[in-house]
Amino acid sequence: MSHFDFDIIIIGAGVGGLTCGALLAQRGLKVLVVEKNRKVGGCCTSFRRKGFTFDVSVQSIGECHRGGRIWRLLDRLELLKEIQFVRLEPAREYHFPDRKISQYSDLDSHIDHLSSQFPKEFKGIREVYSTFGRLFREIMEMPPSLDWFDTKTFRSRYPLYYRWKDKTLQDLLDQLIVDPKLKTILSVRSSYALMPPQWISLVAMSSLEMSYFEGGVYCVKGRMETFPRLLMKKLIQLGGQVLTNQQVTRILVEGRKAFGIRTGKGVEYTGRVIVSNCDATLTFCGLVDEGVLPSRFLSRLKGMKPSFSYYISYLGIEGSLDEELPCTNNEIFSDYDLLVEYDALSKNQLLSNPSFYLLAPSLVNPDHAGEGLSTLCLSLKVPFAYSRTWDDDVRKDLSQRLLEKASRMIPNLRDRIVVMADSTPMTIERMTNNRWGSAYGWAQYPRQAGIYRLNRATPIEDLYLTGHWTSPGGGISAVVASGEITSDLIWNRLSG
Ligand SMILES: Cc1cc2nc3c(=O)[nH]c(=O)nc-3n(C[C@H](O)[C@H](O)[C@H](O)COP(=O)(O)OP(=O)(O)OC[C@H]3O[C@@H](n4cnc5c(N)ncnc54)[C@H](O)[C@@H]3O)c2cc1C
Repeated sequence: MSHFDFDIIIIGAGVGGLTCGALLAQRGLKVLVVEKNRKVGGCCTSFRRKGFTFDVSVQSIGECHRGGRIWRLLDRLELLKEIQFVRLEPAREYHFPDRKISQYSDLDSHIDHLSSQFPKEFKGIREVYSTFGRLFREIMEMPPSLDWFDTKTFRSRYPLYYRWKDKTLQDLLDQLIVDPKLKTILSVRSSYALMPPQWISLVAMSSLEMSYFEGGVYCVKGRMETFPRLLMKKLIQLGGQVLTNQQVTRILVEGRKAFGIRTGKGVEYTGRVIVSNCDATLTFCGLVDEGVLPSRFLSRLKGMKPSFSYYISYLGIEGSLDEELPCTNNEIFSDYDLLVEYDALSKNQLLSNPSFYLLAPSLVNPDHAGEGLSTLCLSLKVPFAYSRTWDDDVRKDLSQRLLEKASRMIPNLRDRIVVMADSTPMTIERMTNNRWGSAYGWAQYPRQAGIYRLNRATPIEDLYLTGHWTSPGGGISAVVASGEITSDLIWNRLSG
């Protein structure tokens, strides 16, 4: 009989924490998940306002197709019958000053479409996608619970990965493509990670791009939060416990070994293994004493950069959007030079005419709005330090800028508004504890991506990470992967 209260204690009920918890509970371990919010799901939650439903953050996800990562998790937990996905085709429309690109899931048609617009670059376009595809296959072949990094065999087993692991997307494009506009068009999905091609790791970009081409892009039918709620339900059915409204304020450590947690209410629980699903800086510089960490680890951690965040305006409006918006997800670029905008963001500024996103969730989920009504989600990339206070004036300015832009596609938009709500990087930070409202954990620079991402096994014995601050990175399918890999690692350690 163990003298611990639980086998596993997980701090945070984001999708990464719940995936890890449900899989370990399925293996018979006694699991406790402690969540500071009233609801589980972290970034993946929803809210209602005046009869309209809005998904807070996550709008669309990959890997829901048969055999995809999320499908496999639901299958393994026998939850497939309890959730439905709606496929988005095209996944998104990208509007540039002089053209519109619709991104369908079929890669060959996409290559043909781009080649017809840039006939001289046909070979380069093919080669770009061939490199993405080959890199993605190498990544997929990496054994999940192996510590990816066996330095002796790594180079020969994963030659392409080895060649490109320190490079950016731009490095590849500069070798294969001449036309700068085409380079931008081939980079559009790097905005899913809030980075320009000059900064994003090629390895990260290949996974992002190919996972969507292999399986398409989906929404959950109903609300996004159905997914984490199902994971919680399963975890409880399997004997696990979920405590909500309880902030963890301390990870209990003796020597360099974690053995429990303390909540804000002063209650302590002990566990054989502690898993943090919350912000990595909070974990290492708030929940434990920095003094127990090796100085090299700590100085690396303090030099790492989180991804940018979003300002989001949620609108409930009168009328349908079928005619104005044939596509659910639209991204509008005011320029082909993506770097200019990100350079401004890194100086905590916004361009006078920044790019923006215009999503119409009720086109996919009509029940988000009543009869004859619709929902819209308008957003901009923003850094946390764009404003110190994020007060009403700042928010009003941003929402008005978004409305003005969206009105070019949806006439009379202002007159049609029934309800309006918003969210800033500060809201996201408050909601999730993710530092600076980071949307995707560490930004996917080459030095923070793939094998360089923060290891799930930490310098503190029996303390592990799951979620978007460890590998593979941000986004729902990636944090599901992280939950699976961390659960395997812990299972191997406890059963070995
Ligand atoms: C605005 C926005 C839009 C996005 N859009 C998409 C999208 O369309 N598609 C996509 O795939 N991804 C999207 N993402 C990214 C995706 O939502 C995240 O990468 C993913 O949800 C992170 O999951 P996680 O489990 O790592 O952590 P989180 O979702 O951050 O969950 C962490 C949990 O830990 C809890 N917690 C933190 N500290 C404590 C504590 N001390 N004690 C107890 N509990 C604590 C938090 O309350 C939270 O519930 C978006 C993110 C944002 C912010």
